[in-house]
Amino acid sequence: MSDLMSLSPRTLVALSAIHVLCLALVLPMVMGRGISESARAAQKSFIAQAFSWLAVFVSGLLGQVWFDWVMSTLCMALAGVSALYLYRAVSGWLGPRPLRRPLLVLAVALPLGYALLFGNYVARVAWANGCLLLIFGVLAWACLHPQKPAGRRWRYLLSAVTIMVALAFGSRMVLVLVDSQSFDSFWSLHPVNVMALVVVSINTILQAMAVMVAWQRESAARLRALAVTDGLTNLLNRRGMEARAHTLLAFARRHRSPLVAMIIDIDYFKKVNDTHGHEVGDRALKLLARSMQERGREVDVVARLGGEEFCLLLPGADITAAQRLYERLRAVVAEASVAQLGFELNFSAGVAQYSRLDADLDGLLRRADAALYEAKNAGRGRMVASEQPSGLAPLES
Ligand code: GH3
Ligand code: MG
Ligand code: MG
Repeated sequence: MSDLMSLSPRTLVALSAIHVLCLALVLPMVMGRGISESARAAQKSFIAQAFSWLAVFVSGLLGQVWFDWVMSTLCMALAGVSALYLYRAVSGWLGPRPLRRPLLVLAVALPLGYALLFGNYVARVAWANGCLLLIFGVLAWACLHPQKPAGRRWRYLLSAVTIMVALAFGSRMVLVLVDSQSFDSFWSLHPVNVMALVVVSINTILQAMAVMVAWQRESAARLRALAVTDGLTNLLNRRGMEARAHTLLAFARRHRSPLVAMIIDIDYFKKVNDTHGHEVGDRALKLLARSMQERGREVDVVARLGGEEFCLLLPGADITAAQRLYERLRAVVAEASVAQLGFELNFSAGVAQYSRLDADLDGLLRRADAALYEAKNAGRGRMVASEQPSGLAPLES
């Protein structure tokens, strides 16, 4: 312990500045390009933190009051900026956080109050440490109560380490208020001051670890989402639909509630491409995808099976409901395509209501596909429903 207390604040500050500077330089290199807004905000937080440390390190070098005033105020301003960036990163990872405004006020109040109170040592040090106590308290709070799945460990780590820093600043604030004689400068050897600087220096490393884990989790989640998403329309792809269908079919079976699968195929799409070009064809696919999503309910599953073929899984719907949806969709798409693409886009549909004879999703889709084939043969621009498999009624409530 006594060894720890013999650490010089100047050495600690210099080492911290070097550590954060290295982190600020290395993080963008190891994280690479194409990272999320949150990851970028976290990187900026480290850059601001590095310059904040540098500013305080050089503040005493000239021995001039005005230089000290400029540099230590700059240090406070950058500490606020760093906290704001970290808060933005955490908000991106966990969903909107409720204390953005108070944090913004604190980040402005910190350097402003510090600069104005500079002539009064006790007041300025108490003010700065008080603001930092609140800022790190807000950061610790921001790691809790996520709005989206984000993992627990990195959040708890970040929260714990920022609470420690908040406490370190808090104890410096109390110290300067009760015993400003033994805590007479930023470079004081008082154990509380030394301890606080050690904690703040540990914070940097652990913060970087938490950021790396959060970013790694975010990347993995994004990859998982990509694997089940169609790149052109942003709908689920076949794999994504199969994953969701499993639960929907199990629910329909268990609760004997109806469920309909509808396969949609654009009519004469090859001609659309040939006449208007592939790019217009792509826009037509996106228009249909958008319309399906907007028309559907939250519980419906909308997927692009491939090419110009789509599938809707409609839990709770029967053939009559499916027919209504088809007619509505057809009218909306016809109108929107004339307005946006300059020609009328038509499509046919085959539907099948889930029955106990459909062994699985494939069986259900096979029947919907056969019905689609009939719709095409009967002249297109219509919906055909598959006969129920013989002998058994469809699942109904
Ligand atoms: P039908 O009415 O019988 O369905 O005729 P169709 O022309 O729509 O069907 P066909 O299967 O002959 O042609 C499908 C076309 O869809 C051929 C292919 O070039 C086009 N296509 C598939 N995927 C895409 C895509 O991602 N973008 C564009 N623009 N076209 C695509
Ligand atoms: Mg087609
Ligand atoms: Mg087709």
